[in-house]
Amino acid sequence: HAPAHFRALLEMSRFHGEKVFLVYEDEHITFEDHFRRAATLANRLVDEYGVRKGDRVAVAMRNYPEWVISFSAALAAGAVAVPLNAWWTESELAYGVRDSGAKVLIADGERAERLASTGVPMIVTRGAATGGARAFDEVLGEVTADVTLPGVELSPDDPATIFYTSGTTGNPKGALGSHRNIGQSPMTVAYGLMRSVALAGKDPAAAAGTRRITLLTVPLFHVTGCFSAMTTTMFSGGGLVLMYKWDAGQALRLIERERVSAMIGVPTNAWQLMSHPDFGKHDLSSLSTLGYGGAPAPPKLLERITTNLPDRAPSNGYGMTETSALAIGNGGADYHAKPDSIGLPSPVVDVRVVDPMGAQLAPGEVGELCIRGPNVILGYWNKPEATAETFVDGWVHTGDLARIDEDGFVYIVDRAKDMVIRGGENVYCAEVEAALFEHPAVDDVAVIGVPHDELGEEVGAVVRLAPGASATAEELREFLAGRLAKFKIPAHVWFREGELPRNPGGKVLKTHLRREVLGAGR
Ligand code: ATP
Ligand code: MG
Repeated sequence: HAPAHFRALLEMSRFHGEKVFLVYEDEHITFEDHFRRAATLANRLVDEYGVRKGDRVAVAMRNYPEWVISFSAALAAGAVAVPLNAWWTESELAYGVRDSGAKVLIADGERAERLASTGVPMIVTRGAATGGARAFDEVLGEVTADVTLPGVELSPDDPATIFYTSGTTGNPKGALGSHRNIGQSPMTVAYGLMRSVALAGKDPAAAAGTRRITLLTVPLFHVTGCFSAMTTTMFSGGGLVLMYKWDAGQALRLIERERVSAMIGVPTNAWQLMSHPDFGKHDLSSLSTLGYGGAPAPPKLLERITTNLPDRAPSNGYGMTETSALAIGNGGADYHAKPDSIGLPSPVVDVRVVDPMGAQLAPGEVGELCIRGPNVILGYWNKPEATAETFVDGWVHTGDLARIDEDGFVYIVDRAKDMVIRGGENVYCAEVEAALFEHPAVDDVAVIGVPHDELGEEVGAVVRLAPGASATAEELREFLAGRLAKFKIPAHVWFREGELPRNPGGKVLKTHLRREVLGAGR
């Protein structure tokens, strides 16, 4: 009898033995190695730090192999792992530590400095262990082959993780996930992957059977990195190539050097990979799948992949922290037929679209997307009101406006909070962005609401043109005239030289952008 919790996954991973699990620069860590270190650290957490079932252990670092070891160790000890956002400042990190009530912190040197003021016992890797902190390797001590996991009774509904949401719509919320949520993730991801490969006209067994080497382009502290990439690799025996931070040129080199077969990240990563001046100078023949999600993927991205990386299986996955990553996905022939859809639900979830009163809507009608299944988290940590609002009768209310077509394909219309209300008329930013993306000169775009005395708000667009391309605001408006109703056409267009400001999750930081183009106080 194999329990559905993370320890089962970890024990399973040991069968992959001497295969390389984690790659970071010139470091290669095998599954056996990872298991031994994680199990050893788990015992130290229990014996030397007094960690007991349900205690929180925070992990704050870049995508180092020690992130994975620490995460595994925390869960193996029966603790709740709390991945903290490595991009957070000192006060944000302090909030994460306070909010989660972490008993121990495991951090890299950079984060350790920012966390020192919290006074919580700390284990430090890749940097100086100052104050009362101890060095990671010293805590680990001797790692032996006969190490076993600490004895702790766990059941699938026990809490396992607190991931903080991206904070796109407000302060990040701690999402309390269970061992069941993690346990289902490899199946959900493997299903989506194999289906995309099959629908691309290839042998799905090849996707499952060959050792998949995944390049992770996003942080492990969000669910895409941790679940869609890490736990899935741990389960299937593939390899995971880690990067200190996203860099398209470095990604090209790593794909060639490590014979990477899958890239997992956000849509911008795939776009920037193909835009890099060195694209075309590297052997990318090993790359067979490109999976992205977490932010809207314009249909133009699929077109570009089809042209620049032909014969690959791209897929667009929709998920949120509250659904433990992937919940709905589109790939292969489906994706080519309906490039603007996020696809079909994973076989473990139910989806529906509801009106503001919670009544289910008919196909084609726009309402809030709700998801139910074993991937839906237990609730928000320390936030009973937000939990009661968002999780109703097992359904998570996503805050995304969507419609479902007659074939069951889901389309994200916009985020419920990313709408411009122009004179009482709703304008979905995502719709205007998608239409602007169709213009050949447009490389990137974000639509925002611009305050207007009479109308309340007007539509504004911040546009980044493709290198060498030109277009005037008037030309863009003319282009949109045939595609969108008049009231949706941006009254203001700003051109921007550099990349649009995005968080590591690929989402445009609209509050920053609004402040940038409209000035302070907006
Ligand atoms: P917060 O909840 O703190 O405001 P957030 O919702 O951005 O932040 P995440 O859980 O990281 O935090 O992101 C989930 C959201 O990302 C979804 O609700 C959806 O709006 C968006 N999203 C995810 N995948 C896709 C996709 N494939 N296409 C379009 N949007 C997506
Ligand atoms: Mg959210």
